[in-house]
Amino acid sequence: MNGAVDPRRRVPRTDVLLADPRLAAAGATLGRARLRAVVGDVQDRARRGEIPPEQVLAVALAELPDTAALRPVLNATGVVLHTNLGRAPLSTAAVNAVVAAAGHTDVELDLRTGRRARRGRGALAALASAVPAAGAVHVVNNGAAALALVATVLAGGGREIVVSRGELVEIGDGFRLPDLLTSTGARLREVGTTNRTSLADYAAALGPQTAFLLKVHPSNFVVRGFTAAVPVGALAGLGVPVVADIGSGLLAPDALLPAEPDAATALRAGATLVTASGDKLLGGPQAGLLLGDTELVERLRRHPLARALRVDKLTLAALEATLTGPETPTWRALRATSGALRLRTERLRDQLAAAGLKTEVVAAAAVVGGGGAPEVTLESWALALPETYAAPLRRGEPPVIGRLERGRLLLDLRCVPAEYDDAVRAAVLRVPGPWREN
Ligand SMILES: *Cc1c(COP(=O)(O)O)cnc(C)c1O
Repeated sequence: MNGAVDPRRRVPRTDVLLADPRLAAAGATLGRARLRAVVGDVQDRARRGEIPPEQVLAVALAELPDTAALRPVLNATGVVLHTNLGRAPLSTAAVNAVVAAAGHTDVELDLRTGRRARRGRGALAALASAVPAAGAVHVVNNGAAALALVATVLAGGGREIVVSRGELVEIGDGFRLPDLLTSTGARLREVGTTNRTSLADYAAALGPQTAFLLKVHPSNFVVRGFTAAVPVGALAGLGVPVVADIGSGLLAPDALLPAEPDAATALRAGATLVTASGDKLLGGPQAGLLLGDTELVERLRRHPLARALRVDKLTLAALEATLTGPETPTWRALRATSGALRLRTERLRDQLAAAGLKTEVVAAAAVVGGGGAPEVTLESWALALPETYAAPLRRGEPPVIGRLERGRLLLDLRCVPAEYDDAVRAAVLRVPGPWREN
C-alpha cells in the first residue's frame, strides 16, 4: 500500500463512536443492538477501504434509520407498483386510519348496541357499495389467499378446476398459481394451448368432476401474435361457476388502462366470483378481495380456512379508508403528467447545479409494475446521475431508490410525492465525495 499507514488502523473504535451524543440518542429509539449493527457495518466498509476512516461517524449518522422497523424509502424507480418496495403506498387517509386502529378499536363491536358485530363491517360495506354488481364481498390476506380459499371450498378433495394453458401464471418470487391451486387438493384440468384457447376447449373439458372454470388475467406478461382467449361472458354460458382472478384490483373500468379487467365488468359479464389484490391498482393495503355470488361468498366466509386467512384490524382500517377516501397515491402517480414531472426534475437539476453538482434531465419511461398493465408505458422524466450514486443513495436516510439504465442511475420523480423533492435533492448532495468517482 505504497508504504502509507494502513487505513484500517484509523477506523474509529466502537466505544468512541457510540460516545457521540447523536448516536447515543438514536440508540434510545432504535435499540442498542440495531445501533451497533449500523456502526459495525460502516466500520467494516471503512476497513475494506470503501470509505475514508474519517467519514465513519458521518456515514453512520447518515445511514441511521428513523424507525426501529421497516424503513420508509423514496421510490424514484418509475415503477408505480414495485413489489420489493411494498407495492401501493397508502393514502394519508388510510395511514391515519391505521394509526387510529392500532390501539383498541371497535373492529368487532357495535358501539350503539354493545353487541358483537361483523368483523370489519365498515370495509366490507365500502367494498360492496363500490361494486354494486357483487351480491356479497369478503376480504382475506392477499390475492393468493383468495384463490386458495375458493379452490379449497369449491374444488378441494380432488375436483377439477378448468383453466387455459395460456393463463398458468407465475406471480413472482417463484410462486406459481397452478402450484397454489393444486396445493389445496384441487386438480387442474388444463385446456387449450399457450397462445390459443377456444370456448370448445372449455366445453369439452366439462364433466361431473368440474368444480369451476378459472379465468386468470395475465397481469405481468402478454402473449402477442396468433392468439385467442375466451372472455368471461362466453364462459358464463357454459353453466358452471366461473371464477375470474383479475389480479389488479380495479373495481370499475379505468380509461387510462383499457386492457386491465375490473370487478364490476367481470361480474356483469356473468362471473360467479371475482378475486383481486388490495395493494395493486386499487392502491390500498395488502389484501385479497372476493366479490360475487352471495351464497358462495357466505360459504367461503364460513369455511375453517377463512379463519387462517383473515385480515387484521389494520388492514381493514386501511382498506375502508382507501375505498371511501380521496384518490390514492397510486392513482395520482399513474396520472402525473409528463409536463409536471419535467418541471419538477428540471428544478431539481437546477438546484443541484447551484450547489455545484452537474446533472442531466432525460426522457424516461415509467411503468405500472407488478400490479398490472405490462404493455403500458407512462411518459416520464428522470434525473441522470453516475451509477456510483446508487449504493450511497440506497443506504442514506431516507433511502432513495432509483433505476439503473445503461450505466446511469435514473431518478424518476413520478412516484415521489412532490413534498419530498427537497429530500431527494438533499440526499443526492449528501453523497460524500471520495467514492463518487470510483
Ligand atoms: C398479483 C396477482 C395474484 C397474487 O395476488 P397477491 O395479492 O400478490 O397474493 C394472483 N393473480 C393475479 C392475476 C395477479 O396479478
